[in-house]
Amino acid sequence: MEREGHRSSFESRPQVSLDAAVLAQIKAHVTQRLPFESGGLLIGKQEYGKFLVESFLPLEAAMPSQNRYIARASDTVRSIIRIHYSGKRVIGTIHSHPEGSDIPSSIDLDGAYGYENMVHMIAYPLAGQLQCSAFRYYIDDSSHAAPYYERVEVVIDV
Ligand SMILES: [Zn+2]
Repeated sequence: MEREGHRSSFESRPQVSLDAAVLAQIKAHVTQRLPFESGGLLIGKQEYGKFLVESFLPLEAAMPSQNRYIARASDTVRSIIRIHYSGKRVIGTIHSHPEGSDIPSSIDLDGAYGYENMVHMIAYPLAGQLQCSAFRYYIDDSSHAAPYYERVEVVIDV
């Protein structure tokens, strides 16, 4: 395919964009759940390393924790089925780091398997404001090296 040859240049600057209203919804949810980690699913479109978030679906944590977020399984399954039948697509995850780290934790990377083709956002406080960073996870199947990540640029559409 003609486009295939250009794929690497399209993917050279991975980017996630979301509009200010979705960001406000994420911030409100995450702030409400402090001091615990919280998060949910990002729904939208993905093309050539560009992720377009159209909506955020919060998922309650299986148990309150200040250093890990695992969504409640029953909510997750129900949500994914509902999203599937609505013709929409899960393109990523977001969770908070209330302690302020803007990069994936070792716990996050331990859980990366199976989530390589998505964008993973982290909401973290900086100088009293919630900020968002984003990443893609990579797992090298040919080695036994730990999963690693690449930073994804976050663009807020206002
Ligand atoms: Zn984390």
